[in-house]
Amino acid sequence: MKIGILALQGAFAEHEASLDKLHIPHFEIRQADDLQDDMDGLIIPGGESTVMGKLLKELSLYEPLKAKIEAGLPVFGTCAGLLLLAKDIDGEDALGFRTMNITARRNAYGRQLGSFFVEEDFKGIGTVGMTFIRAPYIESVGDGVDVLATCDGKIVVARQGKQLVTAFHPELTEDVKIHQYFVDMISEN
Ligand code: GLN
Repeated sequence: MKIGILALQGAFAEHEASLDKLHIPHFEIRQADDLQDDMDGLIIPGGESTVMGKLLKELSLYEPLKAKIEAGLPVFGTCAGLLLLAKDIDGEDALGFRTMNITARRNAYGRQLGSFFVEEDFKGIGTVGMTFIRAPYIESVGDGVDVLATCDGKIVVARQGKQLVTAFHPELTEDVKIHQYFVDMISEN
């Protein structure tokens, strides 16, 4: 198994460290030449979704990655990565891949805009630590999307087929249970 990590900007190195703990081979995607045909999964890290969205297009990564995701490549988007997969952001057409049937809100936690940590239940895993940094949440989900976790009544983890998104940063906690969940998702038929 080999997982590509989008490494244009943001918290990609922390995802590499999480996969190292699980002994899962990975590589960085910084330009179109880095794409490998035998990639089994893709991680889109947190960072700044508008910057990453712009760079994806400028670097000619947008079209090939969108095609792979649409063809069923397992993908895991965290925070800004969630925003890049959402079909709608704040009720408007999003600028990212738009492959996931969810409506997201950016910078959505009111007075908790900064960062905060909570422990909540993640369906199928149990209690996990969740580190939020200027995070979005999922306002609503459409057909085919399962809600896997909520925080304060807001949806913070969702899955649609082989696409998994978290509003928080699992790569910033020691625990690698959520990365293991993604690895298991890749292995499932
Ligand atoms: N606020 C960022 C955005 O809108 C997301 C923050 C993050 O990824 N930690 O893209």
